[in-house]
Amino acid sequence: MKRTIAIAGGAVVGRTLAVALASQSHLKVRLFTGPQPGADSRASALAAAGRRLYGRLGVWPMVANLAEPIREMRITDSAADDVIRPDLLHFAGDVEGNPFAHMVPNEALYEALVARCEALDIETIPASVTFYTEDERGVSIEASDGGSYGAEILVAADGRRSKIRQISGIGVVERTYEQSGIVGTVVHEEPHHGVATQHFLPNGPFAMLPLTGNRSSIVWTERPAFARELVDMDPLLAGLEIERAFGLSLGRLMVEGELQCYPLTAMLARGWFAGRVALAGDAAHVIHPLAGQGLNLGLRDVAALAEGLVESARNGEDLALALPRYESQRRGDTTQMALVMDGLNTIFSTRSSLARAVRSVGLGLVDKRTRLKGLFIREAAGVEGDIPRLLRGEAI
Ligand SMILES: Cc1cc2nc3c(=O)[nH]c(=O)nc-3n(C[C@H](O)[C@H](O)[C@H](O)COP(=O)(O)OP(=O)(O)OC[C@H]3O[C@@H](n4cnc5c(N)ncnc54)[C@H](O)[C@@H]3O)c2cc1C
Repeated sequence: MKRTIAIAGGAVVGRTLAVALASQSHLKVRLFTGPQPGADSRASALAAAGRRLYGRLGVWPMVANLAEPIREMRITDSAADDVIRPDLLHFAGDVEGNPFAHMVPNEALYEALVARCEALDIETIPASVTFYTEDERGVSIEASDGGSYGAEILVAADGRRSKIRQISGIGVVERTYEQSGIVGTVVHEEPHHGVATQHFLPNGPFAMLPLTGNRSSIVWTERPAFARELVDMDPLLAGLEIERAFGLSLGRLMVEGELQCYPLTAMLARGWFAGRVALAGDAAHVIHPLAGQGLNLGLRDVAALAEGLVESARNGEDLALALPRYESQRRGDTTQMALVMDGLNTIFSTRSSLARAVRSVGLGLVDKRTRLKGLFIREAAGVEGDIPRLLRGEAI
């Protein structure tokens, strides 16, 4: 009989893991999707490593025509009313002949993953996990459809408020920012030439990220009250507010579709597994979106966990033995990323002119170091260091 892995969470991380296991091994996957996702106006900056993973899993060809490469990154540090915003830091260049990241609309990636799960005939249960118990042989899962299901291990990819993490007793360290992320798409008069811009403004960073055509995705960190006001505003007026924050370097801007806002938090789980349960994606970590790395971290979880589980299965060992190894692989990298994002947000989201002068000097120094910038690009692309095979585009 096939050995079964249950996954809770039918969004990007849960489905990517399901596709990875179903396409790269003989393990059986049982996917509990949870509630249907609502509309998502975001696009994600998918690092080169993530694109390789999706290439290997047969997902990339399904989204490639909607993805836009990021060819350059400009970082400025400015007050909202500065007319001229000189670049403090400027990155350009490919990583091993490919762009270091692509912007991919979240809904397109989700739809492609749903189609891939169907094509692989993955058992998909449209219900939430409500409880589980475990013994030395496996987990017994109760679901909101009234059914009871078995599996050898359970992976919680059920998001930042993970019910399974709570049941498992794994604690978290959490921080709520007094900030919300405003997201949406804007159409502009001038072409973006693949340039992503990040303005560090006093209330938080504003990112303008290239999409196909003369369109860009915005991620604008602001005070929660302002963010709510903006998403409820008439789109024409909201466009004017966005122009005021971003400037007119891309010409006049118009909002396309719906603006949404997300309360911003940071969270790290104190452990990555408990017994036969492992955490992945936002169930294990939530970071500030200023560098667009949250999902990329989740994909690194997927690649490490899938590789570990497949190796355990090939060695004929209990799959639960892969989980401590998974934790030690992922904990350091994630903690470091969360701390860097938190630190950057804190030092940039301040009105102090002294802080502004100090960080301008700091960024200016980095900008002059070509080798250091090369390393940053490789880090942003997710290709630095000893990475799991899927992130190199290789089969497990
Ligand atoms: C404003 C903003 C911009 C961002 N931009 C980027 C970016 O550019 N690049 C990037 O890498 N990251 C970005 N991120 C982060 C990224 O969006 C998240 O890290 C990612 O979406 C998390 O995916 P997930 O599948 O782990 O969790 P979620 O998307 O939260 O999915 C969890 C799923 O679990 C399901 N579920 C819940 N409870 C249960 C249950 N009991 N049983 C079964 N299923 C359940 C839910 O229905 C849901 O489908 C951004 C985040 C924000 C807020």
